[in-house]
Amino acid sequence: MPIQAHPEDGLVMLRGSLYTLRRRCGKPNCRCASGDVHESPALAYPRAGRTGTLSLTGARIEEVRAALARYDLARRELDALADAGIAALTARLAARRQRRVS
Ligand SMILES: [Zn+2]
Repeated sequence: MPIQAHPEDGLVMLRGSLYTLRRRCGKPNCRCASGDVHESPALAYPRAGRTGTLSLTGARIEEVRAALARYDLARRELDALADAGIAALTARLAARRQRRVS
């Protein structure tokens, strides 16, 4: 999946995970007072070393999922490049040591 820009709303990438937020609203006569709690999709995301949460009521979840997937893909690609860098550096250093020995 290629990384595409979404200039209309800037929702290119998201880091975090989707979960279901369950809560009571506090109104005494609401159905949630007797146990049938309100549920809404939410995003847990890293924020300044902690976990921030964002209720996604009204958001298009498929767009959120796509932005999360783009981040995961980009991170995997970056990690693969960094791993290749370590392999190249290791090979280069080993070759240099071998030349010195012989
Ligand atoms: Zn309620």
